[in-house]
Amino acid sequence: MNVVEKDMKKKTPLVEIKNLSKSFQMGGQELKAVNNISLSIQSGETVGLVGESGCGKSTLGKTVIRLNRATSGEVLFEGDNILSLPEKSMKKFRKDMQIIFQDPYASLNPRMTVEELIGEPLSIHRLITGKAKKDRIKELILQVGLKPEHLHRYPHEFSGGQRQRIGIARALALNPKFIVCDEPISALDVSIQAQVVNLLKQLQQELGLTYLFIAHDLSMVKYISDRILVMYLGNMMELADSESLSREPLHPYTQALMSAVPIPDPAIKRERIVLEGEVPSPLHPPSGCVFRTRCMHAMDICSKQVPTWKEVKESHFTACHLYN
Ligand code: SF4
Repeated sequence: MNVVEKDMKKKTPLVEIKNLSKSFQMGGQELKAVNNISLSIQSGETVGLVGESGCGKSTLGKTVIRLNRATSGEVLFEGDNILSLPEKSMKKFRKDMQIIFQDPYASLNPRMTVEELIGEPLSIHRLITGKAKKDRIKELILQVGLKPEHLHRYPHEFSGGQRQRIGIARALALNPKFIVCDEPISALDVSIQAQVVNLLKQLQQELGLTYLFIAHDLSMVKYISDRILVMYLGNMMELADSESLSREPLHPYTQALMSAVPIPDPAIKRERIVLEGEVPSPLHPPSGCVFRTRCMHAMDICSKQVPTWKEVKESHFTACHLYN
């Protein structure tokens, strides 16, 4: 039973990703940025997406909400395949699916005031106007921990953390159900990261939001996520609930990522696994297991056969010949 079938047995997911792939053409060659991803996300859940830079995490997030055109596969939102809908039918879903970007400075128009920035989605979707719109904007700015007097300022007048709060308010404006958080804390100081993550957690509880939380820092992902999907070179390596993945990572790549996460207790020692070499080019991925060129456990079969995605333990999946 694969992960999609297994979750289907529980209840209908809010978002169901089925065999999703996204390729780009580069100089006449195919670059497979996202390869055959299947994942279901329940309402109110946070699924963390981790992997090194360039592993396809952000491309996957943007493809799920149709900011990128998928090459193949399906994304069901409350049961509807949004990838097969004509653009004009997407308007209804665009309200429900929002994104928070990594770099709040680049994603906010510097010529617009905070009030205009937060109000823009409401204007585009023509939801409310006049006093109702002003009240909603005020409600949003308070919801993200800023003040109404901030509404008349411009993005450059804020710190990185405050700008990300404005980005969050903008994403919340349309009352979405699902938010792709695309490395929302990577550009922030470590001291500010926890504040933004705590804000996202609090908003999730208050508003019943569902997140796909993308990051390369496993320690923060572990803190916010119910389940974590580990990706490498556009492929799924491991999926499990946060607790199980932290306690017992199965895939050699996850083990290496996990070994870099600091343990708050100095009495506990853990050997750091340092991965040799660079991530191969997605234009020329290794045959068989895509991780084999950096895996200390690589065997003959790893270059010949793609490992199958398998449930090794209850709700804990991986793709590795060590478990086949
Ligand atoms: Fe390593 Fe082989 Fe497992 Fe890939 S399939 S992670 S190369 S042991």
